[in-house]
Amino acid sequence: MKVLAFGAHPDDVEFQIGGTLAKYANQGHEVYIAVATDGCIGSYRHTKEEIAQIRHKEAQNAAELIGAKLIWMGFEDEFLFDNRESRLKFIDVIRSVRPDVMFSHEPYNDYNQDHDITGYLVFTARILSSVKLIETEHEVCAKVPALFYYTTLGIINFVPEYYVDITDTFETKKQMFLCHESQHGDWCRDAFGVSYLEMSENESRLLATQAGTPGCSYAEGFKICKGWPTIAGAYKLLPQ
Ligand SMILES: [Zn+2]
Repeated sequence: MKVLAFGAHPDDVEFQIGGTLAKYANQGHEVYIAVATDGCIGSYRHTKEEIAQIRHKEAQNAAELIGAKLIWMGFEDEFLFDNRESRLKFIDVIRSVRPDVMFSHEPYNDYNQDHDITGYLVFTARILSSVKLIETEHEVCAKVPALFYYTTLGIINFVPEYYVDITDTFETKKQMFLCHESQHGDWCRDAFGVSYLEMSENESRLLATQAGTPGCSYAEGFKICKGWPTIAGAYKLLPQ
């Protein structure tokens, strides 16, 4: 199976679904991580060019930890828009992978506009990737993949429909997240006074409490995209 996870910024995917992606990888599935923007504003210490380069390398290291392939889309951090260029790029990324299942932010339900627009572009491109007369570099997809939305930051305005027990891959998730040294080390404390690593751990514990499965210490939560065509039984695509 091919799994394609989109994140607006380098580290979003690791933060929200690193444990689930590690489970897919452990089960032998092909995992791809597509990062929409270059993370170029995430520093008080570097220039935009420097921090974008650092974050690209960090994202590469995190993907390599689980043998995932990184797709660096390179839009400007905090200035992602739904326009012709971005729509075609999202369509082409989906066509380049031809995934069975995709993950993304939920459209227009998070604290950051790049998250919102990434979610909307994935939702839009999911169907358009199978429309032949929209031409991009890669060949049109033969089917529309299932799409799951992962939790918002702080799990605000988000009630999951499905939970994945990541107790056995939580350590890997943590290591993936730690690859983003420039973020948990400096940026998040400098800019917001919080530790993203602690937040990620707290959220995974809270989701485990919600899941209520005996022996589950850490979990990640999902909703399925309800837009047509609904794929019956698509929840079974989540790793067990
Ligand atoms: Zn983000």
